[in-house]
Order: sequence, then structure tokens, then C-alpha cells
Amino acid sequence: MARKAKSTAKRKPAAKSRASTKSKSYKAKSGAGAKSKVTPKYKKAEPNYETEVAACAVPEAPLRPIDANVDPFRLSLIRSIEKKWVNGTVLNYYFFDSPSRWRGADSQKDAVRAAFAEWKGLGIGLEFREVDDPLEAEIRVGFERGAGAWSYVGRDAVDHASDPTERTMNFGWDVTTPYGRDTALHEIGHACGYPHEHQNPNAGIVWNEQAVIDYFSGPPNNWSEGQIRHNIMRKIDPALVEGSSWDKDSIMHYQFRAGLIAQPTEFQTRNLIPAPGLSNVDKDRVRKFYPPINRVPELKPYQSQRIKIGAGDQVNYLIEPSRSRKYTIQTFGRMDSVMVLFEEVDGTPRYLEGDDDSGSSLNAKIRLRLFKGRRYIVRVRLYYAAQQGEGVLMMW
Ligand SMILES: [Zn+2]
Repeated sequence: MARKAKSTAKRKPAAKSRASTKSKSYKAKSGAGAKSKVTPKYKKAEPNYETEVAACAVPEAPLRPIDANVDPFRLSLIRSIEKKWVNGTVLNYYFFDSPSRWRGADSQKDAVRAAFAEWKGLGIGLEFREVDDPLEAEIRVGFERGAGAWSYVGRDAVDHASDPTERTMNFGWDVTTPYGRDTALHEIGHACGYPHEHQNPNAGIVWNEQAVIDYFSGPPNNWSEGQIRHNIMRKIDPALVEGSSWDKDSIMHYQFRAGLIAQPTEFQTRNLIPAPGLSNVDKDRVRKFYPPINRVPELKPYQSQRIKIGAGDQVNYLIEPSRSRKYTIQTFGRMDSVMVLFEEVDGTPRYLEGDDDSGSSLNAKIRLRLFKGRRYIVRVRLYYAAQQGEGVLMMW
């Protein structure tokens, strides 16, 4: 396999998956991050969000560039996984107290905490932890009324919202009502890496486009046509979708008034209202992609480990160095993977370094000084392997 010298361009933050972050790794970026911000709309009177179907608007974030010679099958595996976290990641969340318009009442915060607990209660390998320092948080939550409900999707939160004074999630209405509780579950679904289900190309929805634009450009949403197309009518690239069917009860599905959907024709005359809460498909999907992690074998220097997993699966290894020195951890073989190294601090894995080689001819590689007496965990999620089982992970 041809291995070319790695360019620094391949190492920019957009290619990284980060769990816990250190303040020094936050760099204010100009460009992509700034462009993908949501512009809040301010409304004086609070409309009735439940009867008027206020909906979530995810910020637009550009797709990561991928080599043009990557074939469609390989590309589809990369695109369906790249925004999601490596399993076992601890997603730290923070509630803003200032500016005061972002501050939420305790009851609002409790509702969001309960929604995190509900996702975690499914038995998934992702962890959620509330922190009191925005520098520590991948998910930074505001409760600005009238500014809509939205969240970055998965790793977009660290790749496109790296400024710790920025929100990555906002709740623009009361989240203690039944509808609001579903909103909290929905936004956390985005934070875990899930897109909108009504944009699933397998849904086969044909929109009554003018009616959709008229509806969502009015209160309480007041969206621009661009936001409406981005969040509703744009079909998600089939490559980004897991599974083959449409789950109209998904927590990631909006409600739609009768008449907004032209096909299936039944929704010309009746409202599409997803069943409340997480659907069975939601639960199955997240448990499959983020299963519980039980046994973590040890990775020792100079002992290669075969990577015998399928696309989307992950291996996890514990590293307990017997000497303090610089180590290199690398995959070998024709495959795409994301590798993330964590240090266990007081029982919590903290992000140290990540490398995503997907869509390139390179291999994932981390070179870092590790210390005797400390514990580290390396996680490798496979996107694609040219020959399944022929990949190897090694540390030296
Ligand atoms: Zn949404």
C-alpha cells in the first residue's frame, strides 16, 4: 500500500473525535465555525409551541473533504459514521449561567438532565457527565427563549463550535412539558450523532414544498427558506442513513401538519404525529452503534493485535506503560478508522488525542508521551476495511 507523507492538512481539528477537552486545545477558528452558527430570532410574545409545532433547526456544518477517488461503498460507510463519537466517549455537558438570557431555571436543567439519563438508561457505552466549566464541555447548553431548539450533530460540536463561549445546543421553549421532554431527547439525539429522520431518503416523503415554506417561515419558527430546506426538504445523502426503512415514530422525526406532506398521501389529510418518547428503532440503533463496553484487553508494546471487526464496530485496549516515554500507536492495513486515545483520570476517560484517517490512503496514528503508573485507553472504530480481518493495531 502506498503510504505518503502525512500533511498537516490531514490533521486539522475537523478530522478529530474528542471526548474530554483540555482548555489549551480550544482554538478560536475563523471560517467554517463562524459560518455555521444559528442566527437566533427574537420574539416578544411567546407563541404556543405545541399547537404551532415549533421545530428544531440544526446548524449547517460543511462535510469533511474526502478524496475524490474513494468509491461510493467506502464513502457511504465513512459518511454514516464520521459525525458519531467513538463508543465509550464521555460527553461532558455544561449549562450556561451567563449571559442571563441563556440561563435556564432549575426545572429546565432537571428536564435536560433527565433526558440525558434516559438515553444513558438504554445501556449504551456513551457516557454523559455534567461539568461546571465550559472549557471541559463538548455540549454547551443554553435556554434562550424564542431562539429555537437546536443542536450540532455529534462531532460537529467540537469540529465546528470549538469556542467555549459558544452554545452547541439551545432550548427555546419549556422542556418540562410532554412536548418539551421530547425536544430534550431529540436534541440529545443530535448530540449523539443522529440526523433528522424525516430527511431519511428511504422515507419516500414528497413535500408540498410551498406549504412547508409557508408554514415554517411563520411563527413560532420564522425560518428562512434556507433553514427550511436544510432541516426539512433536503434529503440526507443515502450514505448517511443507517438502516433501510422509515421510522416515523423516531424521536428524530418532526411533527407535520396535514397538507405539508404530499406523499404518502394519507398525510395530506391527517397530521403526522410521532409517538412520544424514544421509538424502538431509536433504541435499537443507539444500542447497536454504542453498545456497552465490558472487557478491555491490554495492548502491550510490540505485540500486534488483529482488527477482526466489521464496518462500524470498535476495538478498545487498555495501556498501562511500564516506562515513561514517547509511544506510537498505529493501525496497519488498507482500512479507514478513527483512533482516539484517552487517559483515565479518577475513573473517567479524558480525551488526549485523536486521528481519523478515513477517506485517505493513510493509517490512523498517534504519537504521544505516556507515563508509567497511569492508565490509558485506545479506541479504534472501523469505517471500512479493504480485506476484513487483515488490519492490525500496534504500539511501540
Ligand atoms: Zn432536530
